[in-house]
Amino acid sequence: MPEIYDVVIIGGGPAGLSAGLYGSRARLDTLIIEKSKYGGQTTTTSELENYPGSIPNCTGPSLSQRMKEQAASFGTKFVKDEVASIDASSDIRIVKCKDEQYHARTVIIASGAEPAMAGFKGESEFRGRGVSYCATCDADFFTDLDVALIGGGDSALTEALYLTKFVNKLTIVHRRDAFRGTKSLQERVFDNPKIDIAWNSIPVGIVGDEIVEGLKIKNKLTGEVTTLNVNGVFVFVGLNPLSDFLKGFVDMDEKGYILTDDEMKTNIPGVFAAGDVRQKTLRQVVTAASDGAVAATSAERYIASKFGE
Ligand code: NAP
Repeated sequence: MPEIYDVVIIGGGPAGLSAGLYGSRARLDTLIIEKSKYGGQTTTTSELENYPGSIPNCTGPSLSQRMKEQAASFGTKFVKDEVASIDASSDIRIVKCKDEQYHARTVIIASGAEPAMAGFKGESEFRGRGVSYCATCDADFFTDLDVALIGGGDSALTEALYLTKFVNKLTIVHRRDAFRGTKSLQERVFDNPKIDIAWNSIPVGIVGDEIVEGLKIKNKLTGEVTTLNVNGVFVFVGLNPLSDFLKGFVDMDEKGYILTDDEMKTNIPGVFAAGDVRQKTLRQVVTAASDGAVAATSAERYIASKFGE
């Protein structure tokens, strides 16, 4: 007989790790399946100043490591694998990976999201050769060099500020004349002498042969195309949910975000969703952790009513 877990959690980011903590503290047999790095997107976050209690000097990787250790200390189990599908044809759900499958009374989908691409010429070809989606991973390569950064949300502003600790000059290329990122971040960006801003501008293409030597940008108001002489281009233009493997299985919106109610229930009984992969208004570490706690508590209630435990 295969082991039947009370809760199988897909994804080991803040939502999944929080669900693991709450599940195992409720004495549920809890497994987290993670395909790459525990911590998810937080592993690429340089500075976390809006997770309560996280200042000073809290990096994404350090916080997620502590979240994982905390969940493990209460008994959460972990496995590295990539989920391909969920079979919900019987009361015991089967979470299918490439080689293994895991049986579960409940499933929490916490697979998160990944950075979106901006869609300019050369973006894919020069990825890893000057185009980057992770400042914490790559900032060091651009020490004392000039870089461009695309976007105007929280990620763009947070990572722009972090990059100024390394680079000579950074130009934010933003398609409008106002940022959508948090006001306190905006103030710090405006005050930073290393940061220039190209408003109303979009990236049109990379200049260079083997590595990035420049970025062509177009002013949307004047139509003028200019070249920024930069060696790096950092892209922070939003997120895409990591939900493709569940298309047709669970209800989603048109962008692929999973639909849930306030208790993190999806349309499939015993299957919950938490964190960035679900449709919601605020995607933050704190709301991901909150979703995870709610999802695990809902899973506990579902198990009690369905299986009488
Ligand atoms: P976001 O808030 O969706 O911002 C994306 C930015 O990229 C916007 O400024 C957008 O311009 C621009 N953009 C979108 N597509 C573009 C394209 N094709 N070309 C050029 N520019 C484009 O995404 P995010 O900053 O990655 O944040 C995602 C979520 O995580 C948000 O909920 C955010 O609050 C959260 N987050 C929070 C923190 C924090 O609190 N410290 C840090 C990181 C992320 P427009 O403004 O014109 O739409």
